[in-house]
Amino acid sequence: MTDTAQTTRTDALGDAELAAIRADFPILSTVVNGAPLVYLDSGATSQKPVQVLDAERVFYERDNAAVHRGAHMLAALATETFEDARATVARFVGAREDEIVWTSNATEGINLIAYAVSNASLGRGGHAARALRIGPGDEIVVTEMEHHANLLPWQELAARTGATLRYISILDDGSLDPQSVDAVITDRTRILAFTHVSNVLGIVNPVADLVARAKAVGALTVLDACQSAPHMTLDVVALGVDFAVFSGHKMLGPTGIGVLYGRADLLNAMPPFLTGGSMITTVTMESAEYLPAPQRFEAGTQRISQTVGLAAAVRYLESVGLQRIAEHESRLGERLVAGLSSIAGVRVLGQPAGTHRVGLASFDVAGVHSHDVGQFLDDRGIAVRVGHHCAQPLHRRLGVTSSTRASAYLYSTDAEIDQLLTGVADATTFFG
Ligand code: PLP
Repeated sequence: MTDTAQTTRTDALGDAELAAIRADFPILSTVVNGAPLVYLDSGATSQKPVQVLDAERVFYERDNAAVHRGAHMLAALATETFEDARATVARFVGAREDEIVWTSNATEGINLIAYAVSNASLGRGGHAARALRIGPGDEIVVTEMEHHANLLPWQELAARTGATLRYISILDDGSLDPQSVDAVITDRTRILAFTHVSNVLGIVNPVADLVARAKAVGALTVLDACQSAPHMTLDVVALGVDFAVFSGHKMLGPTGIGVLYGRADLLNAMPPFLTGGSMITTVTMESAEYLPAPQRFEAGTQRISQTVGLAAAVRYLESVGLQRIAEHESRLGERLVAGLSSIAGVRVLGQPAGTHRVGLASFDVAGVHSHDVGQFLDDRGIAVRVGHHCAQPLHRRLGVTSSTRASAYLYSTDAEIDQLLTGVADATTFFG
């Protein structure tokens, strides 16, 4: 594969193209326990193509310097590369460059918003930040299917400010309960934070509907796009969200780099979260004036090579085409869910009728602990995730303490899904 602009192709990924994609990922030729690796843990982290590995290496070989302040040639080159990466990611999600803040991952992005809001609530940030203040009587709303990364920061924000945390419950099929949506989003809601795609259920939430409801009551929206940005076209402006977060490592990029999108007017009204070098205009011994966004949120020496790697990852995804990737994975997801559902004793968590889903499914094997299922599959070289996937409340709601999760990506194949299905069927017999 080569780096090109967003492809306009709409045809399905064919066998030859899939083979060419797989050849870009050196790790996919690993042999595990005598069998070729079947990597079905991309929901946790994706594998990296050589284009991303090369981009980081070339940056260190040719362009490396600290960004923004240096007077020398390499500093200028590194700064240009760093800001080019921001422009690439901004275009990828339909945002302006000054609306993209680098973080270390999605978790940090959500914490950044929550701490900025609590700093505003303490009176920091002056007049512009007044609209962000929350306190007793105000409500923060999440959903019952959130990853802990989009739950704990809001629990802590509620504890710091005296606001109340409420949640939209789910139905037995895993979808958001419409009655709960009606009851929980009210005039008291100040923040609605929810996941675009569940990292356990693989189902896509109705973003437009939720955003419309939040807007109707004047609440800010925070979209956890960790499981959507890597897998489908994401246009934050078209979706109308106020904030969105995602992690580079789940979308072919390096670890240590995440993205926070925020509406420019909101970011510039927010007091900073981390403070220190590179984010100020003036400092006295008593106080400081902060730069506008995004620099006001980028204190300290930045993760520069990681932004370069992430930009290469975005170009790679665009060269294949997000629409084509989404269709490939959706097809794999259907094969996965249909196959799992046909195995006696296997229950797929969350299967709402007619809901669009990605290539990810979690399942429970009756009477067998997920760790045993994972170990059994690993013996055949099949990599899956086991446990609660950082979503304990969701598992509790669905009546299980843990599950096994298989998650595909653009490099996954029908044959790999079939190997997983055979493995799960054999596990039910082995442990049965
Ligand atoms: N939200 C969702 C839906 C996720 O799947 C994950 C990671 O698994 C996160 C948030 C947290 O991502 P990170 O650990 O990269 O910050």
